[in-house]
This record gives sequence, C-alpha cells and structure tokens, in this order.
Amino acid sequence: MKRARVGNVEVVALVDCTESYDANGVYVDAAESIAPLRGYLDAEGRVTLNFGCFLLREGSRTILVDTGWGPEHHGLLPDELREAGVGLDEVDTVVFTHLHGDHTAWNLDRATGKPLFARARYLVPRADWDHYSASGTASFVRDVAPLERLGVVDLIDGERALTASMTTLATPGHTPGHTSIVITSDGERGFILGDVVFTEVDAVLPDLLSVWDEDQALARQTRKAILKRLVEDGSLVGASHIRAPGLGRFVREASGTRWQALA
Ligand SMILES: [Zn+2]
Repeated sequence: MKRARVGNVEVVALVDCTESYDANGVYVDAAESIAPLRGYLDAEGRVTLNFGCFLLREGSRTILVDTGWGPEHHGLLPDELREAGVGLDEVDTVVFTHLHGDHTAWNLDRATGKPLFARARYLVPRADWDHYSASGTASFVRDVAPLERLGVVDLIDGERALTASMTTLATPGHTPGHTSIVITSDGERGFILGDVVFTEVDAVLPDLLSVWDEDQALARQTRKAILKRLVEDGSLVGASHIRAPGLGRFVREASGTRWQALA
C-alpha cells in the first residue's frame, strides 16, 4: 500500500499479490531483445509482476480501479483496503481497466455470491463486455457475468467523467475495450495505466509484444502513444503490473524511456 496525491485526488496503490514469470514467457521473441535489460530480471531471467489495484479518493467519492487476482492467488486486496482505512462499503464505484481475470477476481463475496463492494456501481468497458461475454472465459463467467444479474453493471465507452477531475480514456490493444483513467486536478496530472505498459522492460523496449496482448499491433501503437504522452506531461502513473506498488513516472533518457518509481 502506498499513497500519493494528484492535486485534490488521493491515489492509493494496493498490492493484491506479486508473482514472477520467465521473461520469455511474457514477451514474444524476447530472448535477444531483452539481453541488454538483464538488470530488470532476476538471476533466473524472471520478471516480477505486481498485481495492483488503485483507490482514487476525491471529496466524498471513493473509486476502486480493478479488483485483483483474488483468493485463488492469495490476494490481499481486502486487507490492503483495511490497512488504507477504507471499508468495502465505502467504495462507490469500481472501474475495470479491462476484463482479464487478474483484474476482476474480488468482485463477489465467494461465500454469499453478493457484490463484495456492496454500495458500488461496477463500470465495465463495453467492448470488453461484448468480447468476453461472447468468448465466455472462466473468469468472466465466475466474476463478471453475475454482476449484471445483480443489476450493478454500467457499460462505458471511451471517455466517461467519473468526477470533476477524473475521466476514462479508451486505450485499446491489450484488450478491445482496455481503458485508462486520466486525473487532472489543481494543475497536476495522473494516469491509471492498466496494462498499456506491462513492465519496466517494455517501457524501455515498447516494440516488444506481450503474449497477453490480444491485438498486438494495436497494443504496441497505444503503448508508444501513451508513453510519449506521459513522458511529456509528467503524469504520476499507477501501473497494474510494474513492480509493486506500481506508482511512478516515465522519464526519457538517451537509452530510451525509463520507469522512475515514486520514492
Ligand atoms: Zn493484467
């Protein structure tokens, strides 16, 4: 758990879990490209992924971005929220960056089948809803479809104002409806990235393709455009999978773009 501020918005990074993966299993044709980037990997060539969620608080509003990988992965999201001093029923809005299973697993109380965030509306990117309801992935069937039957889902497209300072932005490629959140408050900027940039490795090498990008060419195009924007505007960035707790900025250096974790 780590707190930061963007103007009047409090951003709390919540770590559901971390897991490490062989870099060659994360990126397409990684072996040669990653050679110069050994410093980002451990001795066995593995990269540690954070599975992070973000809490955004402004005035009376409490917004949770993504719900993590859940109890099957020993996720700690409810504990992280408790540590942040936030009750589950204080969350008024859950926004999904996308509907991969590592972003949706704490939606429901597994014992009762009720929404874990009892007062929240759940905002789902429509293109992901259409895609995953058609393909019927196991995590969609278990964690997302029941929300609609419970009447708590709002489908969103493109830009949707969440508060006066926060707006969603379509950032497709990783999934068809992938969505980020733009924060503009009191002259400061923030950006909840989702999976647009996956790890520090593809910040340096944005042409690398992740095996989890559903439309790899579009994901690459979006990654490059968003990296350029975030370097230029200096946004505080909350990233789902960049090393925990996933708060920092992208900075340009002679060797490329580098992730600078928040101190
Ligand atoms: Zn993810």
